[in-house]
Amino acid sequence: MAEWPKVLPDDRALNPMTKTCLLCGQPVGAEHSRECGSIGRKVRLVYAFEVEAIVPYQMTNDQLKAYRNSAEWCAVGAWAEVARASQPTGCPCAVFDCLSVENASPDPVQAPGARSEPVRARYPFRAHRVPSEWELN
Ligand SMILES: [Zn+2]
Repeated sequence: MAEWPKVLPDDRALNPMTKTCLLCGQPVGAEHSRECGSIGRKVRLVYAFEVEAIVPYQMTNDQLKAYRNSAEWCAVGAWAEVARASQPTGCPCAVFDCLSVENASPDPVQAPGARSEPVRARYPFRAHRVPSEWELN
């Protein structure tokens, strides 16, 4: 296992007055506590979105599946189908399911946005609540 992450001078969760982690209270240079919320682990997630779509009448389901999984079709088209299925609220939760979670690495990692790097919040949906930084990376 990799070394446990330390509180860095540019940690996003740093209290600028005390120079300690806002979540675990450890000072700059010390390891975050084992329970600190700014430390995560990497996993591999399999998601499913169930949508209804209009497809060419003459294509069989197997042909459609092969076409959609081929390089001829760009999966960005699925986002439009998910967006349509998310109406009228615009929130995709009603068509979403997390199918599996597998460990990708046993090493601890800094939480997304835990350092002063900008959080890239690019997603095309209107959420029914404000997503956390964990969800946007
Ligand atoms: Zn901490």
